[in-house]
Amino acid sequence: MTALVGEDWAVHANCGGRFDELFAEGAAQRKARGICMGCPVRVECLAEALDNRINWGMWGGLTERERRKILRENPEITGWGDILRAHDGKVPGGARHAVRSETGA
Ligand code: SF4
Repeated sequence: MTALVGEDWAVHANCGGRFDELFAEGAAQRKARGICMGCPVRVECLAEALDNRINWGMWGGLTERERRKILRENPEITGWGDILRAHDGKVPGGARHAVRSETGA
């Protein structure tokens, strides 16, 4: 997994940084998730959303509802980038919240 700390990660995004277009529901949200799962900056994107408590849209392949649950269950974590990178992009201790890798692992 490539870490892009210190870079403007959004320029590498599959969505081209058009996060509003991934503000979707139902079938469109499933399509958006597919775009995210192949995104080279998925971890950075998810960390940004978790760190800043962004409560709309699909970020890092997770819906706002999924992210709220992660935050609720991990209130002690305030900086998600290093945590996610250290766990190969997965939320520690939460297999059901695992952020799937591009291979679906
Ligand atoms: S993970 Fe999804 S929303 Fe985030 S930058 Fe990549 S494609 Fe865009």
